[in-house]
Amino acid sequence: MQQYKKVAFYTLGCKLNFSETSTIARLFENAGFAKVDFEETPDILVINTCSVTENADKKCQQLVRRALKINPEVYVAIIGCYAQLKPTEIAQIPGVSLVLGANEKFNIIEHLEEKNDLNAGATVKFEHIKQTNSFVPSHSMGDRTRSFLKVQDGCDYFCTFCTIPLARGKSRNASISETLVEAQKIADSSIREVVLTGVNIGDFGQEGEENFFQLVKALDQLKGIDRFRISSIEPNLLSDEIIDFTLTQSHHFVPHFHIPLQSGSNRLLKAMRRKYLRELYAERVAKIKSLRPDCCIGVDVIVGFPGETDEEFMETIHFLKDIDVSYLHVFTYSERANTTAVKLGDAVPNEVRKQRSKQLHILSDKKKRAFYEQQIGSIRTVLFEAEEDEGIMYGFTENYVKVKVPFDQALVNSMQEVKLLEIDRDGVMKVELIEKTLA
Ligand code: SF4
Repeated sequence: MQQYKKVAFYTLGCKLNFSETSTIARLFENAGFAKVDFEETPDILVINTCSVTENADKKCQQLVRRALKINPEVYVAIIGCYAQLKPTEIAQIPGVSLVLGANEKFNIIEHLEEKNDLNAGATVKFEHIKQTNSFVPSHSMGDRTRSFLKVQDGCDYFCTFCTIPLARGKSRNASISETLVEAQKIADSSIREVVLTGVNIGDFGQEGEENFFQLVKALDQLKGIDRFRISSIEPNLLSDEIIDFTLTQSHHFVPHFHIPLQSGSNRLLKAMRRKYLRELYAERVAKIKSLRPDCCIGVDVIVGFPGETDEEFMETIHFLKDIDVSYLHVFTYSERANTTAVKLGDAVPNEVRKQRSKQLHILSDKKKRAFYEQQIGSIRTVLFEAEEDEGIMYGFTENYVKVKVPFDQALVNSMQEVKLLEIDRDGVMKVELIEKTLA
């Protein structure tokens, strides 16, 4: 192993994966490896995979082929959800040397050292998901303006379309004090915004002594972080006390919620084994908007779930039109092995799925534009990001409006007061800097 010096990482999927890759990268750096980019002929390539859709699997295979073109001797290690769900399938991919399941990914350095005969085909180390119970705190660092802080892992919900419980195991988390220790590491850095991430973060504590509301209150006391953003939370776990606290009492939690809906049809919500009906969802949105009309609300919605009729799809469209949400993340149903939904039959033709997805993307653009228009003229605080794109830089307000100004190095990673002026042709908000409070 000592001949290997350069390591590269490639992450597929969600914010949780990015926080874990970043933590694993620090393990390599602490072990003396130099972190390089994918194209810089790494000796070792670690691919952190996703398995939410069929495409995710294919993407992993393509990446391995690309890596071998760059360096035919590269040592490829595959971790993440695809690795836990289909380890033997991955081990067959030419060029893969190591496959680690959910319980093993943070021990990757030890597994590298074990591997003496490099030509002996892929080594596979994984346990049945029922044995996966370790929780390794993680946070992303260094490659973005904001940090993804892992506060929870796994899920006990088993929605009928979802493979995540099979890939990540049961819901679990560290204690609030351990989570604060991890957050303090971010607070000690120059990062200004932390995004709380996990699989089902509202289930923090699993109804034990500690719960998500207490975690939110504890994090709000932490010094050194300007903003906390909740990445996504199930509607049935978004309690009144969480809404009241974050929107009316908190100093650092921003007015932005991302709440999975999945469908506006109660029959489909039952078939998906979701833990609420649309009435609860609408009531949560109304509660939020009653306290903060400027709060941004994002929605996850699935089209083409088995048996979804035209009428039920129209129920979803009408439901979304009637509630005051700000944008949609639209997912096209994809058959996943070992899920209950895949056995339902009554598949919606792909062409129809495509059509419905298109309609919801159009609705999302309309919702977003309406939400942005409501913000014009308001004074907001923006966290400006580092990227420069043709002389322009971008940032987000606390309520998740994307804004732009001419690039100015002095503004990078700074919080600025701005006045929202108008929506430009690219859908981004033009703003006026109130004053260069280079905070
Ligand atoms: S709540 Fe449902 S959709 Fe979300 S991770 Fe758990 S099982 Fe999957």
